Amino acid sequence: MNGKETYDKLKEMAFGEGIDLFRIADADCFLDSEYEGNRPQDFLEDVRSVIIIGSVVPNGVVDPLPKGRSQYTNTLMAATALLRVASFKLARFIERTGHWASIVPNEGSEFGYWYADKDTLRADLSVKWAAYCAGMGNYGINQLLITPEYGPRVRLTAILTDMVLDYDGKSMPLISDACGDCRRCIQVCPVQAIHEDGTFERFKCKEYMFSELGGLRCGLCLKVCPPGSGNP
Ligand code: SF4
Ligand code: SF4
Repeated sequence: MNGKETYDKLKEMAFGEGIDLFRIADADCFLDSEYEGNRPQDFLEDVRSVIIIGSVVPNGVVDPLPKGRSQYTNTLMAATALLRVASFKLARFIERTGHWASIVPNEGSEFGYWYADKDTLRADLSVKWAAYCAGMGNYGINQLLITPEYGPRVRLTAILTDMVLDYDGKSMPLISDACGDCRRCIQVCPVQAIHEDGTFERFKCKEYMFSELGGLRCGLCLKVCPPGSGNP
């Protein structure tokens, strides 16, 4: 199969598993001067492609927040489970063709703290950056990926591989136009973790969810973004 045929096959497999969003980025996007952070090339020298898959978070668990946090948390976990199964099947398919594939860790919170470096709360690589480079969406002030179809109400994971594939290209500004004069995520955050200058205090957010909420997820900056958003 050539790159296009493999792209189509992987996408068909992903949608067959119930995945809602599928795009592929050139792994060189992490070498882009716009990107600052961890690079998969640091631990996988011959990585060539990043396959990003996404699952929608149902409106029925987001809209009632902050009520129903247990339902919201459980639903994030369910989306994570779906992504894990789908990414595993895609990885196995890729390896049967003679290439290698590695699944990026993902878990059931908005910002992926469980698998992050404990000192920085940063992951080995940013799935959101790869998703942005593949045109899946762009960033909000709340640091979430805002997709045209579902706003930030999506869960994501990625598969890294040495396989060369057809790539989807970015075509959006880095920061979503939806932010404009909107500051709802800043106003709603109970611990003032989100700042207008684009900085984000990860430890404040993590402490709130893992200590004050006892491990339940918060979701308020996702709920209010962008104004009036919700899944079609
Ligand atoms: S809530 Fe408003 S300001 Fe915050 S990320 Fe969403 S659109 Fe941007
Ligand atoms: S504490 Fe809640 S509102 Fe604030 S950044 Fe974290 S998830 Fe968003």
